[in-house]
Parts: sequence; structure tokens; C-alpha cells
Amino acid sequence: MTMNATVPGALRAASPVYADPAAAYIAANEFDRPTLVVSRDRIAAQYDALHAGLGRAHIHYAVKANPAAQVIRTLVAKGSGFDCASRGEIELCLSQGAKPDHISFGNTIKRASDVAYAHSVGVTLFAADSEAELDKIAAHAPGARVYIRLIVENSMADWPLSRKFGCAASALPDLLDYAKALGLTPYGLSFHVGSQTRKSEFWNPVLDQVAPLWHAARAAGHDLQLLNLGGGFPAFYGESIEAPRLYAARVIEAVEARFGFVPHLMAEPGRGLVAEAGHIASEVMLVSRKSADDVHRWVYLDVGRFSGLAETEGEAIRYQLVTPHDGGEVGPCVLAGPSCDSADILYENRPVLLPIALRDGDKVMIRNCGAYTSSYSSVGFNGFPPLDVIVL
Ligand SMILES: *Cc1c(COP(=O)(O)O)cnc(C)c1O
Repeated sequence: MTMNATVPGALRAASPVYADPAAAYIAANEFDRPTLVVSRDRIAAQYDALHAGLGRAHIHYAVKANPAAQVIRTLVAKGSGFDCASRGEIELCLSQGAKPDHISFGNTIKRASDVAYAHSVGVTLFAADSEAELDKIAAHAPGARVYIRLIVENSMADWPLSRKFGCAASALPDLLDYAKALGLTPYGLSFHVGSQTRKSEFWNPVLDQVAPLWHAARAAGHDLQLLNLGGGFPAFYGESIEAPRLYAARVIEAVEARFGFVPHLMAEPGRGLVAEAGHIASEVMLVSRKSADDVHRWVYLDVGRFSGLAETEGEAIRYQLVTPHDGGEVGPCVLAGPSCDSADILYENRPVLLPIALRDGDKVMIRNCGAYTSSYSSVGFNGFPPLDVIVL
């Protein structure tokens, strides 16, 4: 059946502003399980916008954001590099045509055999944030180029990534010296401002922390070439953000003001490259109230915390929903997934306003879910199907 605005339960394509192939596809098709629909054209357009704003900085797509083979292939065709975290991600990129010199092994916690594998296929750029990891790289990828990841503070990101990775500023000089003593090439520095850093100006305090370390390392005789800016480029989830080209250009301007000329600039967008290219087709499984006078309705979807919506943890990322009843009267709802786990509640502290007319069986489109959904979906917790993926 073709869905259109006159059919009960139908969805109108959500975005009047630009062509949105994934939304059109969801509106036009039926799904028997939650399905992420991703548009390659939108990813290519987003790549072009970020590339234009980033100028000389080479894009290394953070593969974990969406590891669909067709997504990787699209980015290979664009000339993108890839930030990989494991042997599996490296194999994926190589299988889709990426060249080893376009792949960086950016996880600071690598399996020794994965380092050896990467070295054997020609990957020469590795991240580290500890002496033990440098030992591992020196043993299994002798002579490799290494960049040291720094902890940065005061992240203003909606999904911070700061604590687990990176070394303290005070540890940097010794790590660079140690890398050199091991026969490695101390090649540069990296950091991550935190994922979903909504405003480009939020980068400034982070760049202020890293720039003096860069200059001090060079003054100490390390011929650093690479500044890896990591990810953090935002997606639209309802709060306004700068256009990707403008945002990226402002970041580069802020970098150049503090670092001067950097021979090799690199950025690792994940979310900012793929999130807006995909939406999830979902279905309402139940609408209920816990008592007759409950002011909140409970709305249970067929997709939840374990089938792709992990970033609703702490209600950090708030996805926008499109329903067949948009425009009608709304009321507050607790939104939950289908599984028998009480952690599978998506939004409760800040309830979601949804149409009073919403019923089970209604199709709901969850917008801008192309990043960190399919890669977070369990294999099928509780027997609910994992997120299906269709790449257009
Ligand atoms: C996850 C990750 C990224 C991507 O971050 P986004 O905020 O999605 O752009 C970039 N670099 C590293 C090292 C990462 O782990």
C-alpha cells in the first residue's frame, strides 16, 4: 500500500526544505520491524559540506557511527579517510576499497594482534595515550607514526567522550619522548571535544588547552606534523545548529588562530556526517495509562534502548518523532521501547509531547538517526528484531 496523508496511520515526508530520500522512502513503504533507512546522497552532500568548511583538514570518518558497507563505499568514492577502532573496522574499510594510507587506527586500547594485523596490511598511523600502548605498537608495528590523545576538559558536548580516553597534559612530554626512544615516530596530537558539540564556539576552551601543549612539544624538539581534531560535529535533533560548512570553517579558523600552520590537519566526524542522512521507521506497539487519572500516557515503540536508541541514555540525545497525527492536539508521554527491561525507557524525566490521537499500529518516524543506532543495536534482545538497515 502506498502511504500518503489521506491514509489513516500514514506519514507525510518530514522535510520540506531539502530532498529527503529516507523520509520519502519511509512514507512510501511498510515495515514489519524497526528499520533504519539511510540515504547515500545525503551522506555525500554532507561530506561535501564538511569538506568545504574543513579546507585542508582531511576527513577520517569515524566508522563506528554507521558501519554499513554501502556507507563506507560511498565515502571511499568521495576520497574520505577512515578512523577505525578494531581489526573488524579495518577489514570492513579495506573490503570497500579504502587504501591503507587512508586508515588510522584511532582506538587507544588495541588488541596486540590487531596492531600486528593493521601493520601487515599497511596501516601506519596509530593512536596511543599510555606507555603500555606505545610498547604494544612498537612491538607489533615497528617504526609506525603515533599520535598521542589528550584528555580535554570542560566539554560542552551533549554526549561527552572525555574521561575514558586520553592522557593528562602533564604526561604528554614523557610519552612523546618514550615513543621516540621506542623507534616510533611521534607524529602528532589528538583530542575529542565530545560528541554533539552543538556550537562551534564550544571548541575554543578545548583548543586553548591543546595549543600550548602543541607548541611546547615542538619547542622540545618533536617535529609534530599532525593535529587530529577528532569528531564532535553536530547533527540536528531539534535545537538549532550552524550549517555544517560554516561550523567546520569556524572550527578551522579557531584552530589556525591558536596553532598557526599545521602540516597535517585531520578531522574524524561520525555523527555530523551520517546522522541526518537516516531515519528510523518505527511502529507504536501500545499507548496506555497506568491509572485513569495518570496525566502521562505511556507510548511503547517497537524500537528501544537495546535495538538502536542507546543514546537516549540519560535522555542525552532527544530524537524528534514524526507521527501521522502531527498538527493535532498533543499531550505529555513517557516514551519506552518494547523489551521487558525497565531500563528500556527512552524519555521520562522530560516527557515527549505526542498527539492525543496516537494509537498502536501507527507508523512513527524517528528523525536523524543515521549515527550510533544500527551500530548500537543488540542482536535481538528479548526476541525483538534488531534494527534493520536499508541504504538507498
Ligand atoms: C567516536 C569517535 C569519533 C566520532 O565522534 P562524533 O562526535 O560522532 O563525530 C571521532 N574520533 C574518535 C576517536 C572517536 O572515538
